[in-house]
This record gives sequence, structure tokens and C-alpha cells, in this order.
Amino acid sequence: MDSFECRACRSSAGELVLDLGEQPACDYFPGSDDPVPDPVYPLQMGLCSSCGLAQLLADPTVPEEPRGAEPAALVAQAAEAVERVAQAGLLPQRGTVAEYGSPHGGSWLGLLTQRGLVPSGNGQQADVILDCFGLMHAADQSGALAARAARLAPGGVLLLQYHSLNTIISHGQWNALRHGHYAYYSTTALTAMLSAADLSPRTAWQFGLYGGTVLLAASRDTDWSGGRDGAVQSLLEQEARTGVRDPSALRILQRDARLRARRLHEWLVTQRSAGRIVLGYGAASRAVALLCLAELDRDLLPAVVDASPAKTGSRMPGTNIPVVGPAELAVSRPDAVLLFVPDLMAEVRSAFPEVEGAGGRWVDVEAHGSGGLEEDS
Ligand SMILES: [Zn+2]
Repeated sequence: MDSFECRACRSSAGELVLDLGEQPACDYFPGSDDPVPDPVYPLQMGLCSSCGLAQLLADPTVPEEPRGAEPAALVAQAAEAVERVAQAGLLPQRGTVAEYGSPHGGSWLGLLTQRGLVPSGNGQQADVILDCFGLMHAADQSGALAARAARLAPGGVLLLQYHSLNTIISHGQWNALRHGHYAYYSTTALTAMLSAADLSPRTAWQFGLYGGTVLLAASRDTDWSGGRDGAVQSLLEQEARTGVRDPSALRILQRDARLRARRLHEWLVTQRSAGRIVLGYGAASRAVALLCLAELDRDLLPAVVDASPAKTGSRMPGTNIPVVGPAELAVSRPDAVLLFVPDLMAEVRSAFPEVEGAGGRWVDVEAHGSGGLEEDS
């Protein structure tokens, strides 16, 4: 790979492990009348051969993403996480806290101040430094981690929450790769990054969010001599089995992505030939790479339905497929609705009974076998 420089350890040795080709900015939904094509940028993941950090390769400037509504799952997980950290005795009474937030929202600050922590002043040290999906948005990974470490008060704890690379690999979540998300952490790589900042992991908790999210607690080496506990050790062992540092383990994502895109394209061609009407549901940023990779247009997928009024009247980035409101489901009476956000399956089935009432079915675009694209009616 030419001109690689690791965002964490600055090594020039890295491997390209996932290439989703030229992709539009996935969080910017153009108006349905905006001229096509949208600007596109290479979307690639590299794996550092030295520290093992999986990272975004090119660094294009893409339009800012809006801060959306916080999904209930995120809110519930935050409450559970804070509870578990408190139970572990890592939230000091009347201590100070500094939060490095995510542009997607999901602040824990309210939960922490309810427990007596006081927000620290701008740039000042804090007993608890919290980073919940924030660090991944920094292009300069070592710089961003060093900034957090520098604010850690003596005896303080750094809490880092991330969607784990182990989950991405083992669940085939190739669409986790996004512009603006610069790092995809394994606990293994993060331990190396922390070490460079004179920090060490102490303990960790796992949550089901996004298929597998880790919250890691780290302390300064000079403050904590207890070493890592069994939870951290077990994450590292799990990751070694998955092969989070092995380019060939990550390249399975590439195969999954191509296969899924091809299968979707072929399925839609078959449906069209049979005269069946298919709509999409869920104008989510995670659907964007799939639609582009599958080279879909409105001839194959006439519309994507979304319940958010803010998205109605836009189109799916990189395509001419319009985003329409749910009323379209009753009007078009689709034979199938492709669900791009599988977590919503139960919700959409009950919210839009007219689909199945008219003989249509919901198809989980990510499912294998029954309920998925393979099941051809
Ligand atoms: Zn590196």
C-alpha cells in the first residue's frame, strides 16, 4: 500500500483490508432534485501492521452529519454502563468529569452529574474522562488520545467506549466503515495506543449495543499497579481467536460486502422481471454503501420509505432513488419491502400492517436464509 501512515503509531507498514470503492458522504441526503452524481470519495480500511489499529485510509472532507435523535437503545445502554462503572467503584464521590462526546449525540453527562460528579472546566483536569464513541472521529488518533490522557487528574480513570472490531469481523459488519470514522478499535490495538500514552487498561464491560460494544477503563501506569483484570484478558483472548490483527481475517469483510451487494442487485433484477413491486425501508446512512456497491437506481428500487419527515423529499446519496413517506406503502402495495435497518423489523411490521395485509412481505436485507433475500417467493 502506498503512503500509509498509521493514525496512532505513525508506522508506514499497513495493509488494505476493505475497499468499498468510491462512495458518497453517507450522512448527507441531497434533495431529490439535486443533480446526480453526488461527489464520491474512496472508502477504504487499512490495518496497521505495527500497532494493529484498523483505520480509515483516505481522509476526504465530507459534509457534516446532523445530530440525530438518540435511539432508545443508546439511552438504555448509557444508563446501564454508568451503573456498572459505579458498581465497580470507579466513580469518585464529588469528583470531576470531562466528556469527549460523539457528533452523533449520546452524552452521559446528565447520568454522571446525577451521581454527584461535577463537570470540569474547559481544558481542566478531571477525575473521570469519558469518551463514548468520540475518539473514533479524530483523524489524528495518537494526538486525540494524548489530549485525553493529559487531562486525567492523578488517580483518575479514563473510560473509552467503542464498537469493537471483534464484533465487526465476527458479525460481518463491513458497513461499519464510514467516512468520518477514522478508527475501528480492537481492545488489542487500543491497549497498544494506551501504552504509548502511559496508560493501561484495568477492566472492561461488554454490551450488546451494535452487536458488541466495549467500555474500557484505563488508568495511568503510575497510579495503578493492579494490572488488567480477567475481563480485559478475556477480550484480548477472544480477539486473538478472531484474528483482529490478521489482514486475512478482516478481508472476509470484503468478500461479504461484494457478495451481499451482488445478491441484492440480482434479487432486484429477478423481482423486476417477475413484475413485482419492491420498495426499501429505512433511509439510514448504513444503507448508503450497500446501495452504491449494488449499483442500484430507481429502475430497480423505485423508492426508500422513511418515517422521518426530515428525510422525505431527499434522495439516497449516490443514487437517484427518492426517499418518500410511509404513505407510499399503502399507495404502492409493494410485494416486498426491503428493510435496511433490521433492528426495526418488529416495529415496522406492527406500524405498517397494510404491507402484509395486502399480501406483501418484509425482507431483512442483512438476513441469511429465511426472511432474507435467498427466500424467493
Ligand atoms: Zn499503528
